[in-house]
Amino acid sequence: LWPVIAIDGPSASGKGSVAERVAQAFGFHYLDSGALYRLLAYAAHTRSVAWNDASKLAQIAAVMEIRFENGEAFLDGEHVSAHIRSEQMGKGASEVAVHPEVRTALLQTQRNFRQAPGLVGDGRDIGSVIFPDAALKVFLTAAVETRAQRRYDQLINRGETASYETILQDLKQRDLRDTQRSSAPLVQLPDAMLVDTTKMNITQAVDMIIAAFKK
Ligand code: C5P
Repeated sequence: LWPVIAIDGPSASGKGSVAERVAQAFGFHYLDSGALYRLLAYAAHTRSVAWNDASKLAQIAAVMEIRFENGEAFLDGEHVSAHIRSEQMGKGASEVAVHPEVRTALLQTQRNFRQAPGLVGDGRDIGSVIFPDAALKVFLTAAVETRAQRRYDQLINRGETASYETILQDLKQRDLRDTQRSSAPLVQLPDAMLVDTTKMNITQAVDMIIAAFKK
């Protein structure tokens, strides 16, 4: 079995950027598992299926055709990256992700990303549920205020309007939903390495993970 580096943590902790760079460093594949939940939230939205309709969501998850190419996401052949990156689909993703039926429907899709010569996966349950045999497990986090500030800067840089307070409240709500749900909640595993980026930049986090994997 090809090695897996599992990077789990709360929203806006920098998982995506860190995981992508670690994958690049080793020439590994990269699984952005949050994108799968966002794709499902978006697919449901376009079909007028509610984010609390677990059985219909699971049906969509089973038939939707997803593809990633150079970091861009495609749903049934349509380029949807911009759609799924919105705050609305982030919220939708965290709502569809609470249903066990949905998580089961997306399980094999995620495991299929494990291909030669290895995989870096980021999400909430990569080390606990998807790849419990991961060679390295990382819990990547930062203070919620720091994460809110980074998300705020990101949106402003993109030329969007944003409110720091709204983002902060949103993140707190999403943290609660991710850690309190009964199905695959976000936890810091005892065998995971803690990487707290509150006072660390992306490069330092990447270097720490690379060094830990090489050991
Ligand atoms: O990481 P990202 O913000 O893109 O994830 C969106 C939402 O999808 C998260 O808030 C979380 O509720 C859900 N998710 C999950 N399990 C994963 C990845 C994401 O439940 N492995």
